[in-house]
Formats: sequence, structure tokens, C-alpha cells
Amino acid sequence: MYTMAMKTLILLLTTTALLLATPQTSVIFMIGDGMGPAYTSSYRYYKDSNTSDGVDSTIFDRLLVGMNSTYSQNSLITDSAAAATALATGIKTNNGFVGNSDHENNQMQTVLEFAKAQQYLTAMAVTSTLTHATPAGFLSTRGLHRDKEAEIAKDFLLPNKDHTLKFDFLMGGGEIYFNKAYKDFNVTAEKHALKIYRDGYHFDEINSTSFIAFTAHDYPKFAIDETPENRYRVAKMTKKSLQLLNNKNFFLMVEGSQIDWCGHINDIACAMGEMDDFARAVEIAKKYVDAHPNTLLVVTADHSTGGLAIGKKIKKDDKTLTKEEKSRSYIWHSDVVKGVSASSYKICEMLKTSKDIKSTFKKYTSIILTQPEEKELVLALTKDNKAIRNRINQIINARSNTGWTTHGHTAVDVETFAYGKGSEKFKGFLDNTDIAKKIFEVLGKKP
Ligand code: MG
Ligand code: ZN
Repeated sequence: MYTMAMKTLILLLTTTALLLATPQTSVIFMIGDGMGPAYTSSYRYYKDSNTSDGVDSTIFDRLLVGMNSTYSQNSLITDSAAAATALATGIKTNNGFVGNSDHENNQMQTVLEFAKAQQYLTAMAVTSTLTHATPAGFLSTRGLHRDKEAEIAKDFLLPNKDHTLKFDFLMGGGEIYFNKAYKDFNVTAEKHALKIYRDGYHFDEINSTSFIAFTAHDYPKFAIDETPENRYRVAKMTKKSLQLLNNKNFFLMVEGSQIDWCGHINDIACAMGEMDDFARAVEIAKKYVDAHPNTLLVVTADHSTGGLAIGKKIKKDDKTLTKEEKSRSYIWHSDVVKGVSASSYKICEMLKTSKDIKSTFKKYTSIILTQPEEKELVLALTKDNKAIRNRINQIINARSNTGWTTHGHTAVDVETFAYGKGSEKFKGFLDNTDIAKKIFEVLGKKP
């Protein structure tokens, strides 16, 4: 009947038609842990150059599409575990838990697991331990408490029915928990044909998509305390991930994990260091989408941290202020924050071994202590590290007019940023569970 050439042509046309009918969309899902709206606003003013007219916009301003609520099953104020579960599965759970222990015969599936079932490549890159609450939410669904990181490490290696792993590659800290979970993790990794890298943020050697790159044995350092070469580590991991995933169908979760940690200690300079790294990573992801329109980029936070507030009313009798500054009534001194070059953790360590408190403090903060400030700092140095860090941050916060209401989380809605294929679905007000539901949709899951 048909000639060979015709048969080939028919086959070719049917395959093309099938491909055209079901184009698969890759997803880059980026989570700024603790990155509430006050963080993206303060980052804008922190980055703004004093020389240009007006205020320069940031990548966050350019990608903003809406807001989402973050409450958990048992509290208006979520933690990262419940929020990760919501963002990864579309189901709310109680604070402290990844997955939902309420569900017997747990049928929960994460967006990452669903993507893998569609033959996507799946990967995560984070600046916490890999088994920390946020990434755990994407690979562990049996309702474990977030503190059980070694148990969570076991869930990471649970294979699919066809014996393949749920993930292709992971980048982040916390090798310690994989070592706790397995007698010899090297043997386990080998069994799963996973290469293990331990070379920090040097990824040149990596050329396959089946690996774990441990960037730290336990917790990676804060961006602000990193060497200049490693300061943009979320950006580095994002860049490498996208190089490896280039032109493939993939689901990639990237987390700026430590924005939250800086927020917990009320350390504004530390938070801005993390924001700077995360913003650069988002820029890289956006560029990828520009070159690969069949990709969706979604960026959000899991909650806000610290009750960060930008500014407070100035005191008219404050002698440190100029007449011009007083005339402004309200000021947030972004230049004070810009002058700080280390986290309060590092400054604390430096002060403890310093013979000249005033000059050491100035070295890392550009702040010349007043006599009362110095007295308070010296008093704090007779106490524990936490008291010292709190005092350091109190001085920087007072000098910059930065406010914080808590060392915990808050319930304010967080921003949703989206770009590329399907980004219109994320517009307006959503709940955090809707983010997962819409990602499922984009990945082709039938309701
Ligand atoms: Mg996290
Ligand atoms: Zn937190």
C-alpha cells in the first residue's frame, strides 16, 4: 500500500502532531524562606544607588503578579514545614510537619514527584541542609516532624515503583543527616548510581544529572560571611542547575533558605546579603525563561520572618541628626545597612577575641560607637553569644531605623512572582495551597 517513504512521513507527522498537542512545560520554583514583602521593599532601597534619579526597580518589582496567604492547618502563623507542605502538595498541615500525618495511607504527592512521574528531570538547590523543612516538603510526605532530618534523608532515597529515584540531582548542605541515616552513604549512593561531590560551590567537575553536591557538611555559611567568590551561592547553584537541565523537561526547586535565619536573629545586613544572592538567582532563572519560553518561573516566600519594618519616626531632639534629616520626619538609613560587612554571628566572634571593641565594631559595621553604645556592648560581652548578637543587632537596627517585632514568623501575606509559560495563572490573591495546585496544572495534571 504505502511506500516506505510515505510510512516514514506519516509517522513523522503523527509524532510532530503529538508533540505539538502536548508541549511539556518546565518549572523553576524559587522560594525565599522568610522573604515577606518588607524584605523585597527594603532590598529595593538597599540596592538603590544614591546617584540615580528616583528609586531603581528590582527583579522582584518586575516579576510581581500577586499575593498569597500562608496560614497553616493549626495556626495563622505558619512555620516552614507546614508552608513547604502547602507549596509542594497543595494541602495544609500542622506546624512542624512535612507531609500530613492525619492522612492514613498517605496519598499525598508533591509537584516534584508528579513531575518525575511525567519523565521530567527533577532537582533541588538550597542553602540549608537538604533535609531542612523546605526541601523536605518536596520529597518527604509521610508526616514526619521536621526535626527528624535523618529520617527525612531516608525518604529522599525512597525509589519509585520502577526503582528510579524521585530526584535527579540535589545541591545543598547537610551531608551529616545522610551519614546518620545510612551505615555508609557512599555505598548507598553508589547503589543508586548517584555521584557525590563535596567541593563546596565549585561545580565545574559536574557533567551528569545524577548526583548530590554537598556544599557543606552541616549548615552553609551566610552569604555576607562568604568569600567574595562564593557570596552568590544560590545564583551559582541556579546557574549550574539550568546548564545541566538546559533544553530538557524539568522541575527545579531553588531555595534562598537563609533569608529566614537572618530574620530570626533580626540581622538586617545579613538579610540583605541573602536577598542580594537570591535576587541574582532569580535574574538567572528569568534569563533562562527568556531563552526557553516553554518554561514557567514562580517565585514566592513561605512566610515572613521577624516582623521586619522599614523605618520609624525620628526624635526631634536626636543630636546625631542634621537639620535636613530632622526635616524629613521619617528615615530609613539604608547607607547604615550597606556599611555592615558581616553577620552578627561573625561580628560576635570577632568582638570576643578583640582587644579594641570600638575599632573591631567599626571594621565590620562602619559604625563609630557612642559611649553609651560601647558600654552596652561591653556589658553584653560578659554574657552568652545570643546576648552579644542581640546587642550588635540592636545597635545596627537603632542606627538604621530598622524595626522588628519578633524573633519568630508573622502571618502577613507574601508576594507571588511569576514569569513565562502559564504565569497568568498566578495573578491576584491566592492561598499558598493554590500555588502548588497551579504548578500541578502547568505540569499537566488533570484535576
Ligand atoms: Mg527553608
Ligand atoms: Zn523560620
